Amino acid sequence: MNNEELFKQIVAHAKEYGFIFPSSEIYDGLAAVYDYAQYGSELKNNIKQYWWKAMVQMHENIVGIDSAIFMHPTIWKASGHVDAFNDPMIDNKDSKKRYRADVLIEDYIQKIEDKINKEVEKAKKRFENFDEALYRQTNQRVVEYQKKIDDTTARMAKCLNDNDLAGLKALIEELGIACPISGTKNWTDVRQFNLMFSTQIGSLSEGADTIYLRPETAQGIFVNFLNVYKTGRMKIPFGIAQIGKAFRNEIVARQFIFRMREFEQMEMQFFVRPGEELKWFSFWKEERMKWHQALGIPAENYRYHDHEKLAHYANAATDIEFKFPFGFKELEGIHSRTDYDLSQHEKYSGKKLRYFDAETNESYVPYVIETSIGVDRMFLAVFSHAYTEETLEDGSTRTVLRFPAKLAPVKVAILPLVKKDGMPEKAREVMDILKPEMMCQYDEKDAIGRRYRRQDAIGTPYCITVDSDTLNDNTVTIRERDTMKQYRVPIDNLLNELLPKLR
Ligand code: ATP
Repeated sequence: MNNEELFKQIVAHAKEYGFIFPSSEIYDGLAAVYDYAQYGSELKNNIKQYWWKAMVQMHENIVGIDSAIFMHPTIWKASGHVDAFNDPMIDNKDSKKRYRADVLIEDYIQKIEDKINKEVEKAKKRFENFDEALYRQTNQRVVEYQKKIDDTTARMAKCLNDNDLAGLKALIEELGIACPISGTKNWTDVRQFNLMFSTQIGSLSEGADTIYLRPETAQGIFVNFLNVYKTGRMKIPFGIAQIGKAFRNEIVARQFIFRMREFEQMEMQFFVRPGEELKWFSFWKEERMKWHQALGIPAENYRYHDHEKLAHYANAATDIEFKFPFGFKELEGIHSRTDYDLSQHEKYSGKKLRYFDAETNESYVPYVIETSIGVDRMFLAVFSHAYTEETLEDGSTRTVLRFPAKLAPVKVAILPLVKKDGMPEKAREVMDILKPEMMCQYDEKDAIGRRYRRQDAIGTPYCITVDSDTLNDNTVTIRERDTMKQYRVPIDNLLNELLPKLR
């Protein structure tokens, strides 16, 4: 199965097994908006909890807030979003499809990267076969492809930095990029498109004001900086964290929940002494990678991508990229945002947003390191990595979601072997013991093998079977999802056995 087919299977599985539904499906859906279903919302909540615990509970100098989505419209003027939160877009005149100019170029670069990977595979074989001449040829091609990637990336970064829209169009034309729908190279000029949604607050007759749906949660943190610093008696360095919805009118909405118009972010702004920001930038760069890898997803699925094009407010930035089924793409951003945001809010609000440093006896606008990750992208990373189709020893197949146990939507399924002889009642007793501690599911329908498969397909790490021995000796069987191994445990010991595995 190639990656495209795999991704299709993953999307289909997410719907069929109650993780994610297209929004408003009975009305034929709404582009790039999705609903989380019964298992999806559990998984999403577990991801948010895992982040909140790691960031807020485990760091004594980070506190969490929950600011409103609607904010004073001047905030978005101060932050630069009204004037500069734009994407360069280009339309194909034949298909009438609209694309982000930089995404078209990145897709082109991805294709060259795929070619490099193929050449490297070939080179390995030729090396093993002592085919020196052909090996050299392959290596030469890799060098040429890499140069093409580097040149293209540098040119694109320069155009984006200089806001050179004609330069972007020229690059697309020179690279011979065609529209994937029409196949033609009949492009419009590149234009800027603001990504913020706007609406009206108050009734129109009263002269309503235009306000925006926040495109990031960060500004809710900045405008509360002073309140939190004072009421929380915070000492620098300290952080403010927040999880919440954000909205962007994305031009290219595709790849399922990777790029949505309504999504959720988990952001943390870390306030530091001016001059110490790059030290803390390196700290958070490492710390966030550790958070990802602590989930047990192998390290080769992650990489850093340091930015060539820095946003106007940043003096360092990197992405943590994840190997999605459609290639390495941004999962989380870590930015050194300088004192830009707080200084802008000082300017626009006329209020001082300063920290008094008792150690140096100085007042200053703190510098900020931001870590920002999309809940939905994290969901997609966990879900797509967990999705596995296996052929078992007896030739049968199973689809299993190998979620890390602490993120799994259902932790334990409780299954009476048969629907009689007092087994369902006993199973209910087990359910009552476990239910207050973990998400459980009771299932007595169909043969036990089919019930195991159903649990595999939603990623339940443990199944507990109540059989005739249970009625005699008060023990049950635990069946592990990944190894399919089974072992007996006394019911009295179940919590001791399961809780450490789920932590
Ligand atoms: P991209 O380049 O992919 O558009 P970005 O650089 O604009 O992302 P940031 O503004 O840094 O993203 O947002 C921080 C995080 O929020 C991203 O790393 C991503 O996980 C998430 N995110 C941003 N836009 C979306 C979206 N449209 N849908 C889902 N998640 C998103």
